[in-house]
Amino acid sequence: MMLTVQEARQRMLATIPVLPTETRDILNCDGYVLAEALYATEDIPPFDNSAMDGFAVRAADVKAASEAHPAVLTLVETLAAGDAPTQPVGSGQAARIMTGAMMPSGADAVVMQEVTEIGRNSGPDAAIVKIFEGVDEKQNVRFAGESVKNGALVMEPGKHLRPPEISMLASLNRAEVTVHRKPIVAVVSTGDELTRLGEPLAPGKIRDSNRYGIYAQVKEAGGIPIDMGIAPDDEAETERIFRTALAQADALITSGGVSVGEYDVVRNVLERLGEIHFWRVAMKPGKPQAYGIADGKPIFGLPGNPVSSLVVFELFVRPALLKMAGHSALLRPTFKATLAEHVVNRDGRVNYMRAILTEENGIWNARTTGPQGSGILHSLVLANGLITIPTGATLTAGETVVAQFF
Ligand code: AMP
Ligand code: MG
Repeated sequence: MMLTVQEARQRMLATIPVLPTETRDILNCDGYVLAEALYATEDIPPFDNSAMDGFAVRAADVKAASEAHPAVLTLVETLAAGDAPTQPVGSGQAARIMTGAMMPSGADAVVMQEVTEIGRNSGPDAAIVKIFEGVDEKQNVRFAGESVKNGALVMEPGKHLRPPEISMLASLNRAEVTVHRKPIVAVVSTGDELTRLGEPLAPGKIRDSNRYGIYAQVKEAGGIPIDMGIAPDDEAETERIFRTALAQADALITSGGVSVGEYDVVRNVLERLGEIHFWRVAMKPGKPQAYGIADGKPIFGLPGNPVSSLVVFELFVRPALLKMAGHSALLRPTFKATLAEHVVNRDGRVNYMRAILTEENGIWNARTTGPQGSGILHSLVLANGLITIPTGATLTAGETVVAQFF
């Protein structure tokens, strides 16, 4: 029986373990997933402060102020950000105040500098300010705890730590946090035809491209790849390499050798390592693939064809690695795109075609990248996305397909 992509992915994800936690410095926790609930132990901001450069006043004093009839207030002091006020603001008084400076007691609003004029009154040394526009009570004031209240739950476990979250951790006075470990992922290519970079290509041999692509995909998915090189089409040696790889990693990714060819030794080796299922997932590219668990560690047997390997990683391995790292959103968002050409899928499998997705006035358009053979790596190099062509569909230009970025 062939499983749909959704069925296979669901079954696979249900068995993927979430990795244990570790404590990290917040300078080095971006991209990680929070493993604790974070409560505020202080108000943010910690005190009422000015949102503007201007004058802290009592709103009632300037209510009737206008261009023709300014309110005239006596200045008591100047407050820069970081200063603590030393004088209360009484009726008829104001304090010059900068953005972020603590509000003096007695004042309940800030008048912005642009509608004021500093001067001197007729008295011996009292500085005054003329206010040409009224303000409401509380206007231009940022209140203690208005961003976060002391004691509040600020972030829950599972939160992906992006730059805003890291700023928030710092404002919560947290220098370290508990996050999930990132998966360490061993990557092995298999096949006697594979030649290392820099070595001459003998007749019948090809370059090993998958290992490099998978290595980069692991990094892009937030994992830590380990390069385990090339395993020959020899069972004993392949088994030795796979076991060495598994011992050092949280997951193993192999490429090639999982179809039904005579030299596809990976199948036999994987079967000896753990509980592995050989899946025929109803997708193109990428039908032959293997998935299983050995010693609690996921093993992904990707197809050897370069396009299949990259696409199967994207649809299966990437969400699995995200789950291991503690993420809750595992799949890339999909959206509708309008086909710019006629596309036919005569297969009994969903076709993930490589596409160039462009936006025009809020509408996404999709055209394919030309020849779509599973060995034609260039079909992915030219693409910025995948479009899903359902089984047996004949679609004409103007019809919509489901798209996602790649
Ligand atoms: P296999 O599944 O091992 O039969 O491989 C299927 C196809 O993918 C064959 O044409 C292989 O030569 C090719 N292939 C397998 N592994 C790699 C690799 N690491 N890099 C590039 N092509 C590969
Ligand atoms: Mg092979």
